[in-house]
Amino acid sequence: VYERKVNYTHFLKYIMVGDSAVGKSNLTLQFVDRRFSPNSEFTIGVEFGSRIIDIDNKQLKIQVWDTAGQEKFRSITRAYYRGAVGAMIVYDITRRETFDSLTSWLSDCRKYSTGDITITLIGNKSDLESARQVSTAEAQSFAEEHGLLFFEASAKTGTNVNEILINLTIYNQNLVP
Ligand code: GDP
Ligand code: MG
Repeated sequence: VYERKVNYTHFLKYIMVGDSAVGKSNLTLQFVDRRFSPNSEFTIGVEFGSRIIDIDNKQLKIQVWDTAGQEKFRSITRAYYRGAVGAMIVYDITRRETFDSLTSWLSDCRKYSTGDITITLIGNKSDLESARQVSTAEAQSFAEEHGLLFFEASAKTGTNVNEILINLTIYNQNLVP
């Protein structure tokens, strides 16, 4: 077995939060593996994955943590948040109630995170435009009000997924010496 050893100079932990079935696991798969799994609902079981990103000749190891269903019971623990420099709060643009949960996810992030954390709001399932229940403008103003980065994306088509990871990483990299 040949193991490729990859060197990196920085390590960044990101966590995924948000209601069930908004697409956290599929976004995680796209972030780390550029894949989509259509029938994933409960079975994906990815707990985290990682990927190396090169920015300005620096090798940044990005580790993305995904919940294994704990969000359903709101039982995400402090350990999940520990050491995270970025949190991605995901809602589903076709389900209003997942947007209404954002304030509660946001307060968990602020309560449990250790130190500064960059919070990115992601409106997922942008491929389902005809079923949209939350406008881009409304989400944008929510993000501005709470000081969050904001993107709409589709884990299905991959639209904006890589851009989110790169933008968040560039942003974080500017904060870290
Ligand atoms: P999680 O519970 O937040 O981890 O959500 P999953 O990643 O398991 O996705 C829940 C369901 O939504 C699955 O049936 C996915 O196939 C579907 N899904 C996830 N992302 C997208 C997307 O961007 N577009 C569409 N159309 N479906 C998606
Ligand atoms: Mg999941």
